[in-house]
Amino acid sequence: MGFVADDVGVDLGTCNTQVYIRNKGILVSEPTIMVVGTGAKREIRAIGDDAKIVLGRTTEGVVALRPMREGVITDFDMTGDLIRFFVRRAIGASFIVKPQFFLSYPSSISPIERRAVMEAAKYAGGRRVYLVEKPFVAALGSGLPVFEPVGSMVVDIGGGTTDVAVISLGGIVISHSIRVAGVKMDEAIINYIKREFNILIGDRTAEEVKLDLGSALPTREERRARIRGRDMVTNLPQITEITSTQIYQAIHEPCLAIISAMKWVLERTPPELAADIMRCGICITGGGSLLYGMDQMIANELGIGVVMAKEPMDCAALGLGSVIENFSRLQSDGKIGFLYQG
Ligand code: ADP
Ligand code: MG
Repeated sequence: MGFVADDVGVDLGTCNTQVYIRNKGILVSEPTIMVVGTGAKREIRAIGDDAKIVLGRTTEGVVALRPMREGVITDFDMTGDLIRFFVRRAIGASFIVKPQFFLSYPSSISPIERRAVMEAAKYAGGRRVYLVEKPFVAALGSGLPVFEPVGSMVVDIGGGTTDVAVISLGGIVISHSIRVAGVKMDEAIINYIKREFNILIGDRTAEEVKLDLGSALPTREERRARIRGRDMVTNLPQITEITSTQIYQAIHEPCLAIISAMKWVLERTPPELAADIMRCGICITGGGSLLYGMDQMIANELGIGVVMAKEPMDCAALGLGSVIENFSRLQSDGKIGFLYQG
């Protein structure tokens, strides 16, 4: 049995959850999905990678669920169980002194929803729980100079939310979070194919097409892919061909919503900080920033340079890691104003 557990960082995303352990780094990186029995006890059958395999293919008596939706906990107990499961996998179960937890949360959630994140982490075994706003950890993890007297702009395009913020001197100057990100693009693809082809495709297929053909800008070279779904007229399995131009059209609206959120923040940014952002560029992170042409589209629309974070899928967890590793120094320097402790 261990004595004092190492501090734990959990980046609880709508699509993916990562666990960072002090002095060790990111030890868990898996989808935020679980498979549970449909009975009253709701036994957990699978979590993470094991659960994703069966998503959309579950048999009677079990159901695959995502306990987070649009950055918000929709199933409190399940989220707590999921965090506990991943943390145990990373550090083991038996400690006399339980770990301190550091979690990220989207700026858009209400105080009640934030409370739910806090409680889920306590339920999962956190001795003390600190919360940090998502864009702040994303900026830290991208290596932006968040504690310097200079304005940095970061955009985290995740699964459920896009979080935009301007940061300076260790705090968020202005931020905006919208419930439009990767999952909304998948939904837009599903709706497009329903409308144009009368074919119903699943979430997984939609995501695969997005990864394969998706682009934020009109593509120069037309590419094609075959997709399988269910014909809504005959109700039989059906295959159709789709082009990259069609996928571009399907996801154009969510892409524009992301641009609008960035404009909203820029319009409210004090001029000195705006000048810094013009000079240094905008940093984009999160899985959604990997969409082909996303960086170029933002640069075109806003006329500001865009820098892609080095490890977009890991930024938030690495940012939490940076808070954890430097916690005592930040505390003695009085720089922990960005932490929320309920
Ligand atoms: P979260 O932290 O909210 O769970 P992530 O940062 O892990 O989200 O990003 C997950 C989202 O990124 C998913 O919607 C996924 O489809 C999308 N994504 C990942 N890679 C790509 C890619 N190459 N192109 C477009 N979208 C991508
Ligand atoms: Mg994330």
